[in-house]
Amino acid sequence: MTAPQITPRLEIDLARVWHNSAQLSGRLALRKVAVTGVTKVALGDPRIARAMLQGGVSSLGDSRIENIIKMRQAGIQAEFMLLRSPQLSRIDDVVQYADISLNSEPEVIRRLSVAAQRLGRRHRVLLMLELGDLREGIPLSEIEQVVSLCRSLPNIDLEGIGTNLTCLSGVKPDATNMHRLSDTAVRLRQRFGLPLLQVSGGNSSSLDWLLNSDNIGAVNNLRLGEAILLGRETLYGQPLPALYQDAISLVAEVIEARVKPSVPEGELTQNAFGERPSFVQRGEFQRSILAMGLQDIQLAGIVPQQPDLAVIGASSDHLVLDSGRHPLQVGDEVRFNLNYAATLAAMTSPFVEKTYLNEGSAEHSPSGVRSPSATPRQPADS
Ligand SMILES: *Cc1c(COP(=O)(O)O)cnc(C)c1O
Repeated sequence: MTAPQITPRLEIDLARVWHNSAQLSGRLALRKVAVTGVTKVALGDPRIARAMLQGGVSSLGDSRIENIIKMRQAGIQAEFMLLRSPQLSRIDDVVQYADISLNSEPEVIRRLSVAAQRLGRRHRVLLMLELGDLREGIPLSEIEQVVSLCRSLPNIDLEGIGTNLTCLSGVKPDATNMHRLSDTAVRLRQRFGLPLLQVSGGNSSSLDWLLNSDNIGAVNNLRLGEAILLGRETLYGQPLPALYQDAISLVAEVIEARVKPSVPEGELTQNAFGERPSFVQRGEFQRSILAMGLQDIQLAGIVPQQPDLAVIGASSDHLVLDSGRHPLQVGDEVRFNLNYAATLAAMTSPFVEKTYLNEGSAEHSPSGVRSPSATPRQPADS
């Protein structure tokens, strides 16, 4: 008998990550838009980064410099973009390890210039515009001033402009905000006689607009993480056509399986997390406990792949399933699909093992047209 695999574990199917990257890079290339593959939800996992690159993304982006350092040290050869404005305390690392950083604060850009001069390097700056979501960004009224600053600073190259929508406030990318970005790019190119190489139209939430608008203006880059790894657009969580939604699965193990009543016995107060769950009387059914809890996942973000199983609840280290329609035994493994928040939590939990399927299979694919091997389930169809 083979030794049991560790649980809980993430199973990351690298052929599916490659497939999703290739699909999105290909579709966006038709619109002359390059893809920056975003690795932050995978904590800069070098295998995932490699699968994205083999799938055709033109650069890699991460919001944490630690993750970029990890990928560089693992030997990943790519252009690296730091997606979060550099911390002053990490400026040297940013100049050393990131080719490009997204910026919105003049003081940070000045310090990048000082560090770049000291380290004998150049650093490329992409200026973020505030277009309504109220996370990072320079107001339109100040953009020309910051462009002038970038042009005056030694060892700094102005790479382009970009925006980030939806992440914090849920603002939808639409013709108004996207054209504002494009118009600004055109204006800056004329006013300063600049190439402005990249006009970066946002994250996975901008995909729908970019793929479906007649006129995408000057936008020529998107930074995609969730769409590649989870195969979903992020505005409504809909599966993207011909992409895998289960490139990443979570597997946990049953440690108790018993028939119990549906309603607790005794006086009810709040649970360990300050909530007061409610209960419906429906007799006895089998409940299964998995060795995994809120320390590893986000309860609302996991769905059992077996449709007859349902999540009842979880505490820090126990996840309870209704297995009345699909009886389980101690030692059984249960597989889940994950949303973004649950993926982030599981990737970050030190208790969740990361395992990989189909490593290297993309390298052996003849020309990027082949579908991933070992695919028991087909990707969602349009
Ligand atoms: C996280 C992030 C992205 C990628 O977001 P997804 O929703 O995973 O595509 C892009 N740009 C910035 C600035 C980010 O912080």
